[in-house]
Amino acid sequence: MKVEGACHCGAVAYEAEVETGTVTVCHCIDCQVQSGSAFRANIPAPAAGFRLVRGTPRTYVKTAASGRQRLTAFCEVCGTQLYACAVQDPPSYSLRTGTLAQRHELGAPQREIWTRRRQAWVKLPPGTPSFDGQP
Ligand SMILES: [Zn+2]
Ligand SMILES: [Zn+2]
Repeated sequence: MKVEGACHCGAVAYEAEVETGTVTVCHCIDCQVQSGSAFRANIPAPAAGFRLVRGTPRTYVKTAASGRQRLTAFCEVCGTQLYACAVQDPPSYSLRTGTLAQRHELGAPQREIWTRRRQAWVKLPPGTPSFDGQP
């Protein structure tokens, strides 16, 4: 389905194609710190369907403990995190679901990852596949 994303102030907007039921909840420490919250919920979108509609996000390259680098994009005005992708020639984008107008139509999480960093009170629907680290 087509989705439309935007930051809180509206300076940056984008559109993409996603498949419902493909949301991943990530409990890793980077996601907790960068979101300022308990976890992050992302949905993948192929690069072919991704397009910036308005503005240009600022970017920050984060290096994971594994050495893997990811480019993260956010609005320089309001700070909203928009997506993450590979540093060079990204084949896909990992959209932050809270920025999508269709956030309520994406379906239940397909999986949760980095559960060894999960805050104790966080409970996803029973039966959600879980991985204690990066699958
Ligand atoms: Zn903004
Ligand atoms: Zn994470």
